[in-house]
Amino acid sequence: MIVILKQNAKKPSVDHLLTDLTGLGLKTDLISGEQKQIITLIGDVTKVDIESLLARECVENVRRISEPYKEANRKFHPTDTVIEVAGQKIGGGHFCVMSGPCSVETEEQIIGVAERVKAAGANFLRGGAFKPRTSPYAFQGLRAEGIELLLKAKQATGLPIVTEIMSLQHLDLFADVDVIQVGARNMQHFELLKELGHCDKPILLKRGLSSTIEEWLMSAEYIMAGGNHNVILCERGIRTYETMTRNTLDISAVPLLKQISHLPIIIDPSHATGLTTLVEPLSKAAIAAGADGLMIEVHNDPGKALSDGAQSLTPDQFDGVMDSIKRQLAFEEKTIG
Ligand code: PEP
Ligand code: MN
Repeated sequence: MIVILKQNAKKPSVDHLLTDLTGLGLKTDLISGEQKQIITLIGDVTKVDIESLLARECVENVRRISEPYKEANRKFHPTDTVIEVAGQKIGGGHFCVMSGPCSVETEEQIIGVAERVKAAGANFLRGGAFKPRTSPYAFQGLRAEGIELLLKAKQATGLPIVTEIMSLQHLDLFADVDVIQVGARNMQHFELLKELGHCDKPILLKRGLSSTIEEWLMSAEYIMAGGNHNVILCERGIRTYETMTRNTLDISAVPLLKQISHLPIIIDPSHATGLTTLVEPLSKAAIAAGADGLMIEVHNDPGKALSDGAQSLTPDQFDGVMDSIKRQLAFEEKTIG
């Protein structure tokens, strides 16, 4: 990190700053040029509060030269993280397909969809029990009962389950859930992230609707800093000016994250586009870009779905998409699992 000092910086305030920075355990060097004076900082700068440095009367600017995230950074952890859960692996060449309805609705529905997605080759069952809805009048999910039904579907099919948590108060209900999802709307629910950092379950962290990749990695960092290193990133589209799709899939996030982080990254083409017809091409694009998996919404009767019907594939459509996914995986010499 480099601190650029103001031209008229007074010696007492520079000395004071140097003392405070050394107090943080950092190695400091004051370099004086003809025009400018700078301080270089070496050490663990993750705890340096840039805003408070900028508030000092002698500081003109501050530049970071290293990333603010450490645990999620490939520089400190060069090998790919492989998540192991319920006999499945994700990352480091292991590809996953998480499929199921947006919302768990009935026992018949969730078990029926689970059987179909399993038969098609998915290796995780997704389904929302707690639903983040824009309107308070829309279906909010079956909540605790939804988790019970997911567990029944797991028992019936053997598929591990992925479901979203929205509040810390519900954490106990997730005791038998295999992967806990943090949805786009809660990507920066920091108290939730901190608590999930103390649990031993993999966390599927979706990218916030308008979050930068660095903000997303800092949210992963919240979980990892607490000791839970099992984080899976999920790109689900971001808000742009485009209105023809529900969101805009940032496919470049995949190869970029592969360079800067060791965490597995999956793509959710259903929420990214809101359109069933785009799920297949974007699934293929995700595989070609190097993603570690896909999350795809499938509903037994999309026209009657209680949420996200327009983007949900029927089980028959999912069969077709999976054939295409498997061909693309074979081309990349990968398999599911
Ligand atoms: C979901 O997976 O059903 C969901 C609500 O996703 P997101 O948080 O990406 O909108
Ligand atoms: Mn959904």
